[in-house]
Amino acid sequence: MSSDYKVRKGPPPTSEPFHKQHFLKLPPSTSRILRPNNSSTVISYRYENQKRRDWNTFGQYLRNHRPPLSLSRCSGAHVLEFLRYLDQFGKTKVHTQLCPFFGHPNPPAPCPCPLRQAWGSLDALIGRLRAAFEEHGGKPENNPFGARAVRLYLREVRDSQAKARGISYEKKKRKRPPQQHNPASLMPPQALLESTTSASNHDQ
Ligand SMILES: [Zn+2]
Repeated sequence: MSSDYKVRKGPPPTSEPFHKQHFLKLPPSTSRILRPNNSSTVISYRYENQKRRDWNTFGQYLRNHRPPLSLSRCSGAHVLEFLRYLDQFGKTKVHTQLCPFFGHPNPPAPCPCPLRQAWGSLDALIGRLRAAFEEHGGKPENNPFGARAVRLYLREVRDSQAKARGISYEKKKRKRPPQQHNPASLMPPQALLESTTSASNHDQ
């Protein structure tokens, strides 16, 4: 799905005669070789790709931040702000304690409880951003993604979602139209997080 996003951004490939002919000329054996058979290669490629996109999303978040915020001034508190901001793109129903379905894994009816980012998605995201920060020259001791406040927050989210029995509304995600007038919709954080939700099975 991330590749779809990229392909759509470019100009539509109306006619690429050379490319097509070249492709069609490939003998079957060659095309088989071109296919990535090694699943671990695919996974690490996806991870790197995802990490780069997460890093770009966070950079965009900093650029849109009011008051302006530079990476060097970024603290754990700002990372928490970022995580809470991402909740608006969440797909996981987390029941409040007042909801009659609080603690129910399979509620029989809809309820007005908010959708949030699943703990597993946030946890994986923080792991990637933490690595990206150091790859971009940040010092481990200054890493805002490794801050104690962030660790505590993630633990709190995990525990509260486990109690509320947050359930993921995966089927609805395709039908939701993009939020047009929200400046934040310039970034596709939901796409960033969706793929990690399926990749990380430690949600429950
Ligand atoms: Zn509810």
